[in-house]
This record gives sequence, C-alpha cells and structure tokens, in this order.
Amino acid sequence: MSIIAASVLAFSFMSDSTYDAKITWWGIIVGLLSLRIIDTVIWYMQNRHVRTPNGRLALWRFSFGCILTAIAWGVYPVYFFDKMEIVEFSTTAIIISALAGGSTTVLAGSRHLSIIFTVILVIPFSIVGLSSVDKSHYSLGFLGIFFCAIMVITGMKMARFTLEAIKLKNVNFKLLDELKNNKDQASIVNLELKQATTQLNSVNRDLEQEVIKRTEKIFQLSNLDTLTGLRNRTAFTAELDNLIEKSVHNGNPVALLFIDLDGFKKINDTMGHQVGDRTLIAVANRLAAFSDANRCGRWGGDEFLVALSYSDQDTAMSIACAMMTSIAQPINVNGNELYLSASVGIALAPVHSLNAADLIQLADLTMCEQKQLGIRKPRVFSTELKSKIEASQLILEGLQHALEKKQLYLCYQPIQCAKDNTTWSFEALLRWNFDGKFIGPDVFIPLAEKSGLIKEIGAWVLNRACMDAIHWQFNQTAAVSVNVSVIQLMDDGFIRLLDNILRSSGLPPERLHLEITESTFVDNEKKIRTQLKEIQSRNIHVSIDDFGTGYSSLSQLQTLPVNYVKIDKAFVDNIEGKGDAIIRATLFIARELNCKTVAEGVETREQALALSAMGVDFLQGYYFAKPMKNEDLIIWQNPISNFPV
Ligand code: C2E
Ligand code: MG
Ligand code: MG
Repeated sequence: MSIIAASVLAFSFMSDSTYDAKITWWGIIVGLLSLRIIDTVIWYMQNRHVRTPNGRLALWRFSFGCILTAIAWGVYPVYFFDKMEIVEFSTTAIIISALAGGSTTVLAGSRHLSIIFTVILVIPFSIVGLSSVDKSHYSLGFLGIFFCAIMVITGMKMARFTLEAIKLKNVNFKLLDELKNNKDQASIVNLELKQATTQLNSVNRDLEQEVIKRTEKIFQLSNLDTLTGLRNRTAFTAELDNLIEKSVHNGNPVALLFIDLDGFKKINDTMGHQVGDRTLIAVANRLAAFSDANRCGRWGGDEFLVALSYSDQDTAMSIACAMMTSIAQPINVNGNELYLSASVGIALAPVHSLNAADLIQLADLTMCEQKQLGIRKPRVFSTELKSKIEASQLILEGLQHALEKKQLYLCYQPIQCAKDNTTWSFEALLRWNFDGKFIGPDVFIPLAEKSGLIKEIGAWVLNRACMDAIHWQFNQTAAVSVNVSVIQLMDDGFIRLLDNILRSSGLPPERLHLEITESTFVDNEKKIRTQLKEIQSRNIHVSIDDFGTGYSSLSQLQTLPVNYVKIDKAFVDNIEGKGDAIIRATLFIARELNCKTVAEGVETREQALALSAMGVDFLQGYYFAKPMKNEDLIIWQNPISNFPV
C-alpha cells in the first residue's frame, strides 16, 4: 500500500523542479519497502516450520524499517512544502493520515512502534501546516495534530487489545498444545490400553483354555484310572448309580459284570510290572469295546467292571462270554504272546439290588465263587449263592469271637515212621465248636485267611501246639506239626512270633515242624523263600502240605528250602489207579532234592503197606489214628502192632 501511495503521490504531482527530488524520494521509499519485503520473506521462509521462532532480532529490524519508512514519509511534506499546491498538500495529509490510521491496526502488536510510527508520520506535516499562514494549511496542520492525538490513543488501545489478543492466542496455543499433548497421550494410553486389552483377551483366552485343560485334568485325576483310562472306583460307582436310577425310571434292567483276570499275577511276577501294565491296558481296551467308555471301570489290580444297560440275564451272559473269548485272544506285549483268561460274575438291577455298591459286591462274590470252583464260565448271582454267602458271613462273624469264647481247640493226629511204626510227629489240627455246632477247618480256614483273622488265630494255634507238645510226658521226642497259612508266613512279624513262642514254651525248635500248603506258594515266591530260610536257620523243619494239588509243584520245589513233602490224600486214595505213578514220581523228585516224604490220608493197611514199600518215610491217617484231643493223647495206644510186616 505504501509503494502504491508513494508512487501516486510522487508521480501525480511531478513538476520539472521537483522531478529529481521526487524520483529520489520515490526510489528511497520503494528501495526501503522492498528491503523490508525481502526481510519479511526471508524471515518467513526461515521460520515457516518453527513452532515458536525467536523474533527479537526480526522485530528490531521490522521496527527499524517501520521507523525509516515513517521518516521517509514524514520528510516528504516538509521537503516539498514550498513547491506544493494545496491539493498536493491535502492529498499528502490524507495519505499520511490513512497510513497512520492503518498503522494503529497493522502495528498494534507493538504499542511503542505504533505510537512512534504515527507521530513520525503525522507530526511533520502538521507542524509544517501550523507554521503556514495559509488558513487551509493551518487547518490541515491543526487537524493533523488532533488526528495524531486520537491515533495515539487509538493506537494505545488497539495495542493493548491486540497484545491481549496475542496473549490469549498464545494461551490458546498453549492450551491447544496441551490439549494436543493430552490428546496424543490419550491416544498413546488408548493404544496401550488397546494392546493391553488384546493381551488381556489373549491371556483370558489362554486362561480359559488352561481352565478347560485343568478341569479336564482334575476330571481325569479324580474320575479316571491313570493306567487304563477307564473310570476309577468312585466314578464308576456314581455312574452305575445313575444308570440304575434311569433304568428304574424306564423299566429296563441293568447288568453289572465283575471281571477278574486269571493268572495275571504270574505275568506280573515273571515278566515284570511293565509287561503287566501293558497287559492290563490291552485288556481294558478289549473290554471297552463292549460298552460306553463311562460304563467301564477298573476296580483295582486285575479287576474290571462293565455296566450294560437294557441287558437282561441272557444278554449279559452272551456279552460276558464274548468278553471272555476276547480276553482269551493272545495279547502281544514286547513281542511276547501272552495268554489270559478271566472269571466273570454278573449281578442285575433291579432284581438283585438297586444300589451300585451292593450290586458290585454281589457280582464280585459271584465271580469269586466261580474262580474258586475253577469253572470257566460266567455266572449270574442267585439266591442259592446268596444263602451260601450269608452262611459264610455268619461263620465269619462267629469266628471273630471264637477265640475269646474259647470255642477253638486243637486235635492231634500222629504221623508214624513207616520203618518202625513209631510216632515221629503229631499234626495239630484246629477245631471249632461254634455254639454247639462243629465247623470244619476246610470251611472256616479259607474265611479266616480272607478276612485276615488267620494271623490272630494262627498265632494262638502255634502257641497252643508248642505249649501242649512240651508237656507230652509220654513222648519227649515226637515233634508237633503246625499248619501255617501263607498269609501268616508273609507277615513281617511272623519270625519274631515264632521266636517268642519257642522261648516262652521252651520247646526245642527241632521238635517244631511247619506245614505250608503248596497251592499257596504260587504268589510272592521270593518273600516265602527268605522267610523259609529264616525258619530253617532256627532248626525248625518245613513241609509242603497237599503236594501235587496246587499249581506250582516241581519247579518250585527246586528252589524252596523245604524238608518234607506231604503227598495229598487224593493220591493215596487212588493208589491203585493213577495215584501210584504220581506217588512214585513225587518220591523220586523228593529223593533227588533231599526231601523226606509223608503220605497223608492213609486209611487202610493195604495203603500203608504199599506206601511203605514204595519208600514213603512217614505215614498219617485214620488207619493209625484219627485226630485226638490233647488230653486223649496220653491214653492213646497205637492200635497197629504188626506194621510193617
Ligand atoms: P491238612 O493239613 O492236609 O490236614 C490233613 C487233613 O486230613 C485233616 O483234616 C485230617 O483230619 C484229615 N485226615 C487225616 N487222615 C485222614 C484219613 O485217613 N482220612 C480222611 N478222610 N481224612 C484224614 P482237617 O482236620 O479237617 O483239616 C483240613 C485242613 O484244614 C488241613 O489240611 C489244613 O490245611 C487246614 N487246617 C487245619 N488246622 C489248621 C490250622 O491250625 N491252621 C491252618 N492254617 N490250617 C489248618
Ligand atoms: Mg497239614
Ligand atoms: Mg494235607
């Protein structure tokens, strides 16, 4: 605007006399203004991207430029006054006033500069006007002073206003900055939050997965058998209860199968637990094929349970037969072909019971019965079996109090030397008078063994027999043969018990013989061997009872430290038939192994003579004497005087 105004002023009122001066003035003002424009452009270019530029020096340059411009303008009316017409003077006054008016706004950013600029612009032409005698000039000069005063006041006001506006703007900028910062921080926080949420979500997902996994694990630990993956006792019983409840509701029968493997223990003992475990897994898989996974359970050891819904007696029998066939198929473990069989007992709901635990017990008892009888067929629980079981329970209850009620006593049966018919030993045989009813040891001993009562009863027998024997004045050389159950023998305290009894009774150990039934040697052979060695180291002799009736025999006889083999009554009974060959074979082996032989159940003279002729060392049986009470032994006279012939 200044350049335009200066150009208009300089060239509009140009005359020959002022030409050079006006061109010079114009040149100065245009040059000055151009420099200022350049300075502004350079400053702008330099600070374009600077958020808060250092404006102090630029401000000084700007102020300096302004003042020089004002001076240049101020000079014009003073210098050219003499050659000016009133029109030019008026135009100059108007232009300068307009510039001064504009400066109050344009330079309002600096109060001092705005005032100085106005004053430098307006005062020179006002003074020149006032000093003139011409009225018009004077009036314009006066108006100039007045205008200058107003402009100074306006300039001051504008400056204050602008300063505040700038301050406000800066504050706003700051606020905006802070706001932006806050916004930036907020977005950072938001981003972090977002990331955290994503992480949290993934952690949550992982956690959920972990919870599911753990729940599964807990379920497995608490419900599944760790080896086979079948239901464990608790879980199976609960499932069976559920099934029974549903079946009662629907009116459909449920069959429970109790499966026990035959001969598994042997696999475990001879081939190791690893093979045993893999065999159990294989059996479990075969059984699981017959029912839902949650209806197959492992009861313990080699015992399994299968529940069949919608299954009556016939269906259960057919499935049980199929299971037995499946188990009988060879099992391949580590390249070994293993053969197993199983005994199966069946109980039905609702016929036999509506309670899972009872049903399992009934199926178990049925299975045990079948196993004992050695019948390789499944069996369904029956009332006949029920009365047998009840009778057993009655006996067992009675047996628990038999000792304290003094219902147990010992009878002694002589064992004769085959060579000279002298009494070599007396076998102690337990008797039980159960409230006036005689119960045979064949009935109550297996029950006592099963219930664990045998330890207490056996200890009593051993003590009684030793006490009786030490008082046999009629025969101070004969031994006493005591039957000992394998369960007693396996007990860690047995040897200590033996020592205590020998010490307290005063019976020389060589007068004590122990008879252990052969069939029971099968299990835990190693422990039995160490126990037998302990016994023999005390000079107590050991017999294998009922030899030939058990599973083991010959191979075990080689390794077990025994002194006598007792040939079972069954072979003596059959001495005229196949028994003869068996007895001869037994005698041969016994001789090879340095064992003496005893034949039991000798009822006739013929048997006695035949056995003696065969080389049997000792004979026992009704032919010589039946078992007698201790008090009757003193008066016992050997009725066989002409033996051997
Ligand atoms: P065992 O040790 O083989 O005893 C021989 C059994 O045959 C006895 O039966 C005896 O009375 C019977 N006996 C002996 N000679 C003859 C005979 O000529 N003819 C016939 N028919 N029988 C004869 P018992 O006393 O009934 O004992 C049966 C089984 O009970 C015993 O067989 C033994 O295994 C067991 N037992 C008896 N007492 C005890 C005991 O105190 N502890 C243990 N653990 N078992 C015992
Ligand atoms: Mg015996
Ligand atoms: Mg016997």
